[in-house]
Amino acid sequence: MAGPVFDQVLIGGRWVPAAGGTYPVVNPATEEIAGHAPACSVAQAEAAASAARDAFERGPWRTMSGGERAALLRTAAERFQGEMDGLVELTIAETGAVRAVAEAQQVRAVAGRLLRAAELATAPLEQGVPPRETGRSLAAGVIVREPVGVVACITPFNFPMTNCAGKIGPALACGNTVVVKPSPVDPLGVAELCRIVDAVLPPGVVNFVNGEGAEIGEALVRSPDVDMISFTGSTAVGRRIKEAAAGRMKRTVLELGGKSANIIFADCDVDRAFASAMSVWTFHSGQICIAGTRVLIEEPLYEPFTRRLAASGPTLRIGDPREPGVVVGPLVSAAQRTRVERFITRGREEGATLACGGRRPPHLSRGYYVEPTLFTDARNDMTIAREEIFGPVITAIPFRDEAEAIALANESDYGLYGYVWTGDAARGLRVAHAVRTGTMQINGSPLNPDAPFGGYKLSGVGRVGGQWALGAYSELKYIGWTTP
Ligand code: NAP
Repeated sequence: MAGPVFDQVLIGGRWVPAAGGTYPVVNPATEEIAGHAPACSVAQAEAAASAARDAFERGPWRTMSGGERAALLRTAAERFQGEMDGLVELTIAETGAVRAVAEAQQVRAVAGRLLRAAELATAPLEQGVPPRETGRSLAAGVIVREPVGVVACITPFNFPMTNCAGKIGPALACGNTVVVKPSPVDPLGVAELCRIVDAVLPPGVVNFVNGEGAEIGEALVRSPDVDMISFTGSTAVGRRIKEAAAGRMKRTVLELGGKSANIIFADCDVDRAFASAMSVWTFHSGQICIAGTRVLIEEPLYEPFTRRLAASGPTLRIGDPREPGVVVGPLVSAAQRTRVERFITRGREEGATLACGGRRPPHLSRGYYVEPTLFTDARNDMTIAREEIFGPVITAIPFRDEAEAIALANESDYGLYGYVWTGDAARGLRVAHAVRTGTMQINGSPLNPDAPFGGYKLSGVGRVGGQWALGAYSELKYIGWTTP
């Protein structure tokens, strides 16, 4: 049997055999088996939620000082760092990420998130409210930050461990207990992450379940033992989770899809803007929620810019991510490739010009590859401009002036991210203010872990990132008093 075999799930500090045995996880670059993952039952998912509830009620995790929690989270981060080399290989095998992406964003980023969670754990738990004269007496008090309870962390396929660490890190820092449920497509790294963190924390604080089919996640969302659902994934599933959570008014943090605009003015540093447009192809084959897949280009630049893109796409080396020099890897699964191909067909049917790509690379007989693809002559009302494709597909749309660029960017059901490139700093700021998204990056400003992260509109509900995660994963209680 190739690859690691995980046939157990983690419930209440014990690894127990998954009721449904295992299923194969496929290497998307080769279509060979990358490993085997546990297929647990709905009853086991419910038991994991119940174990997380017991661990929460029993303590000591909930009642520990922030400093004590921080020390344990730091130890977990250090142990994770000690295992990173092996985890890079596993990540490449199960996600198809090229080595640079696997190393930096899929693995090292996890340690960074755990270390930041340790810092977050030491944030003050109380804040005094000064006395106020209310007419009859004095009101004074204190605001206390407390954990929400049991958090179900449900994650997508694209950055499995990184996304999981971005949830369990702050959730644990705030004193919650967690049940982790990764995407069944590539859950092996997440199982390893849970193993490493669980070995350091009190039993039952971290629980791990996995299995094919929506019923495992649904069981967690439904469970009376779960207080909060932290979900990252598609808007369609996010909507179902929000509806299901409404019955018991469970807290939800929903990090959903995007169709972000990359607005390029003719006066910008064109080479840098060009590199950012190309990243839709080279950064995990476009399987990124924040990808700037709607490239809006000012009219005088539109023709030369898209001509250069069309010439560059076919020169990018596409293939097995383990091979040196490969910059475009496969899509994660056959299903994901089918989805992307359907959108490409739709783009052609709706009248956009396929300027490059659009096919399975002829030289690769195995693996779920799609060539870097560019649509020009596209309109904002076309499906390829409105819906999230989640693959290496750019939709390029021209605009006449600033007002039209803003209007096009905002004419979207999504509002996760956005980019603007211009030599005019004031214009950059104006556009950034005007576009209704959770984040706007001017002239290639880097990702900032201290910034709030989340979406407007169908891109989600809530904010995580930096200290904003404290609000996401805590309850606030006011304790007031007055003179007797
Ligand atoms: P997905 O199909 O929505 O699945 C995400 C997770 O939800 C998986 O673990 C899935 O497990 C589970 N799930 C499915 N139905 C469920 C239900 N009814 N109740 C509870 N859980 C359920 O997303 P994906 O295809 O893995 O990931 C791609 C999507 O993630 C894209 O839309 C992308 O934009 C989004 N994403 C957003 C962000 C962000 O920060 N905004 C970051 C990364 C990715 P099963 O497959 O077993 O059902």
